[in-house]
Amino acid sequence: MGLLGNVEFNSLNDLFLHQLEDLYDAEQRLTSALPQMAEAATSPQLKQAFHTHLDQTRTHVTRLEQVFHRIGAEPKRETCPAMKGLIKEGQEMIDAKGDSTVRDAALIAAAQRVEHYEMAGYGTVRNFAQHLGMDDVAQLLQKTLDEEGETDKLLTQLAETGINARAHA
Ligand code: FE
Ligand code: FE
Repeated sequence: MGLLGNVEFNSLNDLFLHQLEDLYDAEQRLTSALPQMAEAATSPQLKQAFHTHLDQTRTHVTRLEQVFHRIGAEPKRETCPAMKGLIKEGQEMIDAKGDSTVRDAALIAAAQRVEHYEMAGYGTVRNFAQHLGMDDVAQLLQKTLDEEGETDKLLTQLAETGINARAHA
């Protein structure tokens, strides 16, 4: 969400569009960040998880474009300072030196913050779409929400089934 204080909301539609533009910016930032996360990961499963989610994230971008299209709006990016910050934290983990397994645990910690942020965003726009009577749009947004949730669970699983224990060894 922009911090410049130049937005005006007069209807739930205005807010809905603004939130979509924020997510559209966030997802595009992630398509640039995820390849670096994959590169930095040591565990092959974690690397794979980041690659898989990169593909999904590209789909999230095109799905948002479909949503803009369905509501008759041009796809537009509203700078998302929160995602910029989350990616900055991820960059810290990417650049970190030290034990490779602990660094993997650090990458997971950063990535799960991102997924939870996205889940909050998509839950909100899915609800707005429902309230606005746009069931098809709500369904599209639900698909992305599900994929963010599955990714979050997979990251927890990778952490719990090895990476954390090895990081602690
Ligand atoms: Fe996404
Ligand atoms: Fe995601």
